[in-house]
Amino acid sequence: MKRRGFLVVLSGPSGAGKNTLLNAVLPRIPDLKYSVSATTRPPRPGERDGVDYFFLDDAAFDAMIARDEFLEWAEFAGYRYGTPRRFVEECLAQGYVVITDVDIQGARQIKEKMPDGVFVFLLPPSMEELQRRLESRGTESAEAISRRLKIALEEVAAIVDYDYWILNNHLEEACEQLVSIIRAERARVCRTDFSTLPLKGE
Ligand code: 5GP
Repeated sequence: MKRRGFLVVLSGPSGAGKNTLLNAVLPRIPDLKYSVSATTRPPRPGERDGVDYFFLDDAAFDAMIARDEFLEWAEFAGYRYGTPRRFVEECLAQGYVVITDVDIQGARQIKEKMPDGVFVFLLPPSMEELQRRLESRGTESAEAISRRLKIALEEVAAIVDYDYWILNNHLEEACEQLVSIIRAERARVCRTDFSTLPLKGE
């Protein structure tokens, strides 16, 4: 039975724990592919080019825009971030589930182009906890943290445009929830091609 691929869009404030959640979910769903974004933000310690992001300078990012190589792109806290189109389209054509981590502006663009995508919003336990997580990461300046916290409040207000929400209080529970959402979405009749099934009793 052939399955149609679909895109899962994961958004949530910076520091909500999207990366940790993704790293926990990816090994549990064999046909789930992570779309690595491009960014003009410099790498944080330990981040690897081509794994965490494709780290580009402004000219290289501009060139990708000019060649229409992004499914979406947006500016976030002073840097640009974009989802490379080709990887997503190729994986979907092969029937994979693709997950992409984008901010609310990117999610809006994707919804216009792919209304059958699955839009999931990850909530931090509280704003205090979000601030604590951003500070303990130790990678952003105090100014960058307060900028991200301000954006977080605006982002949470956009939750009404999403299909599902997950509270990231306990990683294991959040992980279970995202796995369940993906499994349920995969089982939707509209995402399956039944034409090869002998359903007519012949
Ligand atoms: P960070 O700098 O903390 O890695 O990411 C900052 C924000 O950019 C996060 O909210 C993240 O979801 C978002 N982001 C990451 N990749 C993309 C992308 O490809 N497109 C868009 N629009 N946002 C992204």
